[in-house]
Amino acid sequence: MRKGCLIVVSGPSGTGKGTVCGEFLHVHEEISYSISATTRSPREGEQDGVNYYFLSRDEFERMIEKGELLEWAEVYGNYYGTPLKKIEEQLGAGRDILLEIDTQGALDVQKKFPDGIYVFILPPSIEELERRLRGRGTDSEAVVTQRLAAAASEIAVAKEYAYTIVNDKVENAVRILSAIVEAEHARTRNNVEKINAMLKGV
Ligand code: 5GP
Repeated sequence: MRKGCLIVVSGPSGTGKGTVCGEFLHVHEEISYSISATTRSPREGEQDGVNYYFLSRDEFERMIEKGELLEWAEVYGNYYGTPLKKIEEQLGAGRDILLEIDTQGALDVQKKFPDGIYVFILPPSIEELERRLRGRGTDSEAVVTQRLAAAASEIAVAKEYAYTIVNDKVENAVRILSAIVEAEHARTRNNVEKINAMLKGV
C-alpha cells in the first residue's frame, strides 16, 4: 500500500487559497482535509466541524498540553492548530490529506514531515491582493491593514516551499496543484512497495 501524502498549502490571506483548496478537494474526493482548531469566532456561513473546530482559549490550551496538535500558531491574536489524530489516521490508511495552514505552522510541519508536499499560493500582485482583501468585506479596515502587513512577511517565507503557484485564475491554480500531487504519487520512493511486490512475482 502506498503511504498517504501530506499536502501543505499556505499563502497570505486574500490569495484565494481557500477557494483553490476547496475546488481541488471537490475534484479529488479521495483526498481529505485537515480541519484546524481555532479560537477565532466563526465568519458568516462557517460551520463548526466543517471549516474549523471553533474552541475557547481554554479548550485550545488543553489540546496543546495533551500533545493533541501537530503544530499550532498564534495568528492575528487567535490560536490556530492542526489536530494530530486525523493526520496519523489518514496517512496510515494510505490516504492523502491536505492542510491549509500559515507559514509558521508549515515550517514546523516540514521538520516533522520532510517528505510532505509544500505549496505556497501567491496572489498575481500585491495590488490585486489588497483589492481582494477589501472586496471580501468581512473584515474591518484595521484587520485589512494588519493582513496586508502580514502578507509581506508571509511571502518572504515562500522560498522555503518546494512549489509556488500564482493564483491568477482558480482553475489554473487547481490544475497546477493537481499536477504537483500526481507527480508526487509517481515518485519512485512512493512506489517502492509496488516495485518490491512485482519483483516477488517475477
Ligand atoms: P482565517 O482566519 O482567515 O481562516 O485564517 C488565518 C490564517 O490562519 C490563514 O493563513 C490560515 O492558513 C491559517 N491557519 C488556519 N488553520 C491553521 C492551523 O491549523 N495552523 C496554522 N499554523 N495556521 C492555520
